Amino acid sequence: MVNAMLEVVRVPVLSDNYVWLMHDVASGETVVIDPAVAEPVLAAAAARGWTIGQIWNTHWHGDHVGGNAAIKAATGCSITGPAAEADRIGTLDRTVSEGDVVRIGGHVATVMEVPAHTAGHIAYHLAEDAIVFVGDTLFAMGCGRLFEGTAAQMFNNMARLGGLPDDTSVYCAHEYTLSNGRFALGVEPDNEALAARVAAVEAARARGEATVPTTIGLERATNIFMRARDVEELAQRRAAKDAA
Ligand SMILES: [Zn+2]
Repeated sequence: MVNAMLEVVRVPVLSDNYVWLMHDVASGETVVIDPAVAEPVLAAAAARGWTIGQIWNTHWHGDHVGGNAAIKAATGCSITGPAAEADRIGTLDRTVSEGDVVRIGGHVATVMEVPAHTAGHIAYHLAEDAIVFVGDTLFAMGCGRLFEGTAAQMFNNMARLGGLPDDTSVYCAHEYTLSNGRFALGVEPDNEALAARVAAVEAARARGEATVPTTIGLERATNIFMRARDVEELAQRRAAKDAA
C-alpha cells in the first residue's frame, strides 16, 4: 500500500496479529507499529533494505510490544508509546499523550487517546496522509474488548474515529474481520452494505487474503459498534459479541 510517499507493509505474525511497517520514501525512515515479535519484522524490513528507526506502540499488551526490546537491540531505534502505560511497557524512550505529535520524515502523526480496550490506549493519526493506526480499539466491523475501560469510553472512541474523513485508511492489529462480520450481520440483517462486505470478506479469507486495512467510510457503513446509536446499544452489542 502506497499512500502518497508513505509505504505501509503488513507483517502477519502469531495467530492473527498484523504488525505494520511504514516507510517514508523521501527521508528513508521506517517506523514499526506494535511489533508483537521481532524476527519477522526485522526480516520484512531487511528484505526491503529498510532500517527501523522507530517503534510506535498503541498499548501495553504483549502482542503489541513483545518485539520492542529485540528490535531496539538490533537497530538502536527509539520507542514511543502511551504515557499512561509507560510503567507496564517498560521499554519506552518517549511517552506521548493526547495531541502530541510524532514524525516519520516530514509526515506528522497526532496522538489520540482512545481508552477502553486498555486504560491508556492511543492511536496515531496521520491526517495529511489519511492514515490511522488504531491498535486494538477499532477493527474491521468490530471494536476492541473492554478490558480496562467502559462502553461509554468506547462509544466516544467510535465517534471520534468515525468522525475522521471517509477515505482514511484504518490499520488495525488483528485479522478478526470474518468473525466480526458474521456477528454484525445478526445484529443488522437488513444492512445491504454489511451483507455485501461479509460476502466479499468470506471470499477473500477463503483465498487466504488479508482484509485490513479498512477505511473509515467502510466502517461507518458496516461497523455495528461505530453505528451504535448510544452507549447502551454499544454495551449490549459488545457484551453479546463477547459471549458469542
Ligand atoms: Zn490488546
